[in-house]
Amino acid sequence: MTFTSCPDCGEIAEVIDRFVLPSTDGPVEHVRTQCLRRHFYWCHWQMSDSID
Ligand SMILES: [Zn+2]
Repeated sequence: MTFTSCPDCGEIAEVIDRFVLPSTDGPVEHVRTQCLRRHFYWCHWQMSDSID
C-alpha cells in the first residue's frame, strides 16, 4: 500500500489506482488518491510524493 498527501487538505491519502500515460518527456505515471476526508484526485505521481 502506498500513501501520499492530499493536494487539497494535506491529509494522508492512499494511492488506490495508477496508470501510465505517454508524454513528450516520456511515460508519466498518474495515480488516483483518496484521502482521509474522502477527496479523490487524479494526479501526476512523483516518487518524492510518497510518504511510505
Ligand atoms: Zn483531502
